[in-house]
Amino acid sequence: MPDYKHLLIAVDFSASTDQVLKRGISLANTSNASISLIHVVEFAQVDLSNELVMPQQLELDRELVELAEKKLAALAEKHDLGSSQRFVSQGSTKREILNTAKEEGIDLIVIGCHGRHGIQLLLGSTANAVLHGAPCDVLAVRVSD
Ligand code: AMP
Repeated sequence: MPDYKHLLIAVDFSASTDQVLKRGISLANTSNASISLIHVVEFAQVDLSNELVMPQQLELDRELVELAEKKLAALAEKHDLGSSQRFVSQGSTKREILNTAKEEGIDLIVIGCHGRHGIQLLLGSTANAVLHGAPCDVLAVRVSD
């Protein structure tokens, strides 16, 4: 296995988050790699009519980002990742993970994967979407939840 230098662990705050984080952390430790965490807040703003976005919607977006920043900081503390970089982005989960990986020179993205079958697999998953556009290796951590 190559010696990775900088891992990006994608965190969705679901029940399987700890499983994904633990895999990423143990791999980073064996490679002496640094770790960055990312959470993406999917759009709360709905602007189907191209009308002006209401201030309440902007406020909701800001609150969701702030909440995610706090949750990510708590998670980093819980896993002793005080020195890790943390990214909270807004938009499409796939696009934001890939953009951050490119911008930060990430060489391994670590992401959870539910191992779904049949139609659910065809419909795709975040891991599948990320894998197809990734500028680097991707570790899909099989999670159970
Ligand atoms: P899913 O296919 O949506 O069940 O998500 C599988 C994995 O994708 C999760 O275990 C996370 O690693 C990642 N992921 C999903 N949603 C997000 C998100 N909003 N921000 C960051 N990572 C995410």
